[in-house]
Amino acid sequence: MRGSFDKASVRDAPVKGRRVLVRVDFNVPLKDEGGERVVADDTRIRAALPTIELLRERGAALVLMSHLGRPKGERDPALSMAPVAKRLGELLGTEVKLAPGVIEGDVDLTCGALGPGDVLLLENIRFEPGETKNDPKLAENLAQLASIYVNDAFGAAHRAHASTVGVADYLPAYAGLLLEREVTELTKVVEDPQRPLVVVLGGAKVSDKVGVIDRFLEVADQILIGGAMCFGFFKAQGIPVGDSLAEGEDKAKEALEQAEGSDCELQLPVDLVLGREFSADTERKESDGVEVPDGWMGLDIGPRSAQNYAKAIADAGTVLWNGPMGAFEMEPFAGGTKAVAEAVAGAPGTTVVGGGDSVAALNQFGLEDRVDWVSTGGGASLELLEGKKLPGVDALLDAEEGDKANA
Ligand code: ADP
Ligand code: MG
Repeated sequence: MRGSFDKASVRDAPVKGRRVLVRVDFNVPLKDEGGERVVADDTRIRAALPTIELLRERGAALVLMSHLGRPKGERDPALSMAPVAKRLGELLGTEVKLAPGVIEGDVDLTCGALGPGDVLLLENIRFEPGETKNDPKLAENLAQLASIYVNDAFGAAHRAHASTVGVADYLPAYAGLLLEREVTELTKVVEDPQRPLVVVLGGAKVSDKVGVIDRFLEVADQILIGGAMCFGFFKAQGIPVGDSLAEGEDKAKEALEQAEGSDCELQLPVDLVLGREFSADTERKESDGVEVPDGWMGLDIGPRSAQNYAKAIADAGTVLWNGPMGAFEMEPFAGGTKAVAEAVAGAPGTTVVGGGDSVAALNQFGLEDRVDWVSTGGGASLELLEGKKLPGVDALLDAEEGDKANA
């Protein structure tokens, strides 16, 4: 019996002595250091190492490809993969060659010269205008660089692009280890959680997250709302929100109605931390209650709310956390997020954290090692949790097809 993941795994791919094209998610933040562009946070590169190392150990030659930023189909030197190739080389302890382009020039010659264990990184795949259009011509050209395709880019699996979906029409397509683990861990949260399942939602992008609220009203035992998200809910209840960032009032209203008739308890903050404006040195006050007067904005959940949420998290069988509780980048408004992060880190249940800023908050508090699963995919993890099919996963061979391909 296989687990819940029913796609063909890279573990079962016949890669020895062959060239393997691997889609990875190396969309990492860069920074300038001594006049040089360098990788500012290599979490995503490190997350791809197990698949890369497995393939090298098994005698494959690797052609890696990823997007970086949004170059809009044109070459942009500021978004070259060069800093990524350098950092990956350091992590692997081997030279990682950078191809001169994606498919043009002598990329195929460079690929032809690769031996077992060698690693080549293509230039930013979004330098090609066909990438985001899922152009079949580009997909076919990419496929010509190798004889097997592996997708380990969970963070890009919700996009049907040439490098995530199109190429699977031309090559046998396998799931990388990271992609497999992400899908397995996140699916388990919604389909087979230890109960009670407590979901903590916050952050700023309410419109991105309404889909998960709907789904979790059906499957979770408690949803705890914080961040700017709570102000959409307060507005929907007719509570004054002052100058707070408040969007998604209509969606919030629907969610409140849906919660009425469900077994899931939707909790909102009972107190807040207010500021005059969105800045670290603004005037700050704690308010016992959730009405925000004019001239103020809610920038964090208050200490009583944080305590309530920490208690629910401690009692949970499974915790999913997505979205900070406040503007945690500013010290005076980091308290709620820190309390939740610490509660998640200390929780005896299974803990899963997703969302770029939530993960950044965990890192900021030095707690990332104390969580069971830290998801690398923001949008992709939300879509999966909502119950949507991810095109990049769908395009892979089914497990049985993979078995046949090996026979
Ligand atoms: P994630 O990346 O974890 O999914 P989001 O991108 O949705 O999270 O939101 C993160 C951002 O939300 C942070 O930059 C934080 O400053 C902001 N934020 C959280 N609470 C508030 C608030 N009350 N008012 C304004 N911004 C907030
Ligand atoms: Mg974010």
